[in-house]
Amino acid sequence: MKNNAVIGIDIGGTGTKLAIIDSAGQILERSSFNTQAQRGGEKFIAAITNSVLELQQRMSDTHTIIGIGIGAPACDELSGTITGAANLPFTETLPVRQLVEEQCGLPTRLANDANVAAIGEGQFGGAKGMNNYALVTLGTGLGSGVIVDGKVVIGNHGLASEFGHTFVVRDGRKCGCGQNGCLETYVSATGIKRTVFELICQTTYDSPLRNYSFHQLSARDITQAAQDGDFLAQEAFRLTGEMLGYKIADLIVLFDPQAVFLAGGLALAGSLILDPAKKSLEKHTIAMFKGKSELKLSELGSEDAALLGAASLIYRR
Ligand SMILES: [Zn+2]
Repeated sequence: MKNNAVIGIDIGGTGTKLAIIDSAGQILERSSFNTQAQRGGEKFIAAITNSVLELQQRMSDTHTIIGIGIGAPACDELSGTITGAANLPFTETLPVRQLVEEQCGLPTRLANDANVAAIGEGQFGGAKGMNNYALVTLGTGLGSGVIVDGKVVIGNHGLASEFGHTFVVRDGRKCGCGQNGCLETYVSATGIKRTVFELICQTTYDSPLRNYSFHQLSARDITQAAQDGDFLAQEAFRLTGEMLGYKIADLIVLFDPQAVFLAGGLALAGSLILDPAKKSLEKHTIAMFKGKSELKLSELGSEDAALLGAASLIYRR
């Protein structure tokens, strides 16, 4: 008898990854293609469906594919569409869910990548069995997914939980969204770089980070420097973690979660970001919530979290 499996798809600006994933969260087969090489909506959809059919073929003797889950940036979960953006190879609004479902003949679900990561944490990671939790992804920007009473908070326009664009500093740093002082301008891989450069300007600390240009410097370099004992890098993490904890106190007051998880590139810094965030959260949590919600690191490896989350869109139904 054949086993059931799901195809998870992670659409990213550089690469689109696909994998066949079983119900235990094991990745059985993988493929990928260069997102930018598929210019135009039609070519992009064809690249997805060809990869799906090819993967399905590879496992056809042992597994039955029961559905396709897709995680993508800038998508509308309510209509199943993705609107072209600077980092995608098309400009129009594409009904991706419907096209993939029709062309592959499999039930297809599409969700925002931060929501997908949150669902994956519940299916395969540290949030197993939790009905109320949130996940914050610290990548180029700051994304979040909030689960309340077992359901992802979607909102009236499919736009809920844009935590990265809540304000943290009045008239603060300019954000890509057009506003000033949004959380992600401070707390994200890009945000911590901006903090490092502020510290470089405002202090006289000796630091290897002074040798980098803004574009050269990565969150990984800052993590490495902090782990090697560099004070300026450690200070950047302390400031970033403090601001994160301060705003997670808001999330807790709003949603009363059992736990909040940190995922994404910057979360790989582990205690460097987690410790100051916990301390600040503790300080800013009001009395009735004290000791009730835990702040933790995601238990899914950053490498495959997006694919596991995408597969969870089918498994959790
Ligand atoms: Zn913003």
